[in-house]
Amino acid sequence: MSDSHDKRSESAGNGPRAAAPSNFIRDMIDADNISGRFERRVHTRFPPEPNGYLHIGHAKSICLNFGIAADYGGLCNLRFDDTNPSKEDIEYIESIQEDVRWLGFDWEDRLFYASDYFDQLYEYAEQLIEMGKAFVCDLSAEEMREYRGTLTTPGKESPYRNRSIEENLDLFRRMKAGEFPDGSRTLRARIDMASGNINMRDPVIYRILRATHHRTGDKWCIYPMYDFAHCFSDSIEKITHSICTLEFEDHRPLYDWFLDQCQVYHPQQIEFARFELPYTVMSKRKLLELVNKKYVSGWDDPRMPTICGMRRRGYTPESLRMLAERIGVAKKKTMIEVGVLEDCVREDLNKRAPRMMAVLRPLKLVIDNYPESQVEEFESINNPEDESMGSRKLPFSRVLYIEQDDFREVPPKGYHRLFPGAEVRLKHAYFVKCVGASKDARGQITEIHCTYDPDSRGGEAKDGRKVKGTIHWVSAGHAVTAEVRLYDRLSLKEDLGDVEEGGSWLDNLNPNSMEVLSDCRIERNIDRATSGDRFQFLRHGYFSVDPDTTAPKLVFNRIVSLKDSWAKIEKGQTKV
Ligand code: ATP
Ligand code: MG
Repeated sequence: MSDSHDKRSESAGNGPRAAAPSNFIRDMIDADNISGRFERRVHTRFPPEPNGYLHIGHAKSICLNFGIAADYGGLCNLRFDDTNPSKEDIEYIESIQEDVRWLGFDWEDRLFYASDYFDQLYEYAEQLIEMGKAFVCDLSAEEMREYRGTLTTPGKESPYRNRSIEENLDLFRRMKAGEFPDGSRTLRARIDMASGNINMRDPVIYRILRATHHRTGDKWCIYPMYDFAHCFSDSIEKITHSICTLEFEDHRPLYDWFLDQCQVYHPQQIEFARFELPYTVMSKRKLLELVNKKYVSGWDDPRMPTICGMRRRGYTPESLRMLAERIGVAKKKTMIEVGVLEDCVREDLNKRAPRMMAVLRPLKLVIDNYPESQVEEFESINNPEDESMGSRKLPFSRVLYIEQDDFREVPPKGYHRLFPGAEVRLKHAYFVKCVGASKDARGQITEIHCTYDPDSRGGEAKDGRKVKGTIHWVSAGHAVTAEVRLYDRLSLKEDLGDVEEGGSWLDNLNPNSMEVLSDCRIERNIDRATSGDRFQFLRHGYFSVDPDTTAPKLVFNRIVSLKDSWAKIEKGQTKV
């Protein structure tokens, strides 16, 4: 974060901050600081490819890179790895910056693009050719695959591998000048076709691709490959620790090889396990498919694991940072339960979200013995966790709404809410006793009738008698009508990619991942809420105002339900 970051950078390079829990990445950095390897500097980067919106896995990487830099009084760059113009888009560049900022991090004046280095990368490529370490290859993509070999068998050398340095230089310059069609030639590193590591089998460094780049326009018709561009970009920016995900572990020898050959500044690559969540999808390709095929309303659909989707749903940046801290870093793949994420947002919002009474599925309750035109007001504190948030007034009248689920004609065993003959507490108000229910011609209950005990004002009976159930309510004549959207997991299977033969991963999508309740009633104090505001609706969970809201109808997203809210309310423990 910018504030703490600024303070810490004044005392740059003094090793770890005591409060930060140790992990293997910090251990490596500590060791480097002790040996003085990078002059005790810590300089990381977050290097997204602008080919999609960021998701919660990226959030982990952002928190890790920016967090480590801040903790060590170092710096973190934001660098777009924009080496593939055919898939990249300015829309993504903008959204990524917005998301990193929203998470609470600041790259200050260190926004870079791999494309800033295209000229220099080209120089490094010529250098490799001049050292006999790179060659122009005429094999087609398919032939190259055949020559590559497998994990168990060595590859075969390309027939073009032994071209002279002069011929290679000439051909490479002509590739750059646009003399050859797309895909007809590549520049390849000349390493070892028998290497046990397939990444070292003469990997491609440059390909011919006629595509307009969002920054360099049509200047280039050859583009560097990721592995080549990435290590040199890190080197140019004097990154100390290049933190990436585990799939790059086998690429590290190549990362080191390029930098060693050109004898340039050499960062340390460190890999950690990807953060994954069950019952959702994190592959950019699949997320894009969900958007394009309209399974979701867009990248920011509140069901999406994208940062913008989670922002719209109402997650706080604090809760995502808390999650990143809590899950730590691992060297081996570990699946994190959705509950860990949900606990983080509950913990954060419990302290901050004002409480409201909201009835999601309304059922009319008429208090037969309450004076027709009388209105009382009950005081309720806005957040029992934080008294400084003040209190509000709840109007109470003869006709109320309660949840349909809080009434049963025939109560199941252990049901402590309303049923004929039963008495409950209306939160903050009175005891009421159910005396009957009216039905329509089809036998559906239209309203229930109660009597109230005037001697139980405030929710405690004067004679000391107790009730087991407490339910929430709103005054029908005072409540605001709103739409509430409830969400469930996107996938029916823990692993969305778990597909039967001939099936598609799309078959695993949960058809009921969103439920829209369009006739909810919320206490009138909600009427000042605006887009992004967050509340706890008693017994229902945490909700935020969706940007789809157009006055006067408010639209809410449920961020997360309360943990065991029903169980707790039955025991009268809920702090509401
Ligand atoms: P692609 O398949 O397009 O490469 P990617 O998810 O790797 O997708 P990048 O834009 O390359 O996307 O990722 C930027 C950074 O975020 C990389 O350093 C990457 O290692 C990290 N990252 C991506 N996904 C995760 C994840 N699930 N957990 C942790 N870090 C991640
Ligand atoms: Mg990537």
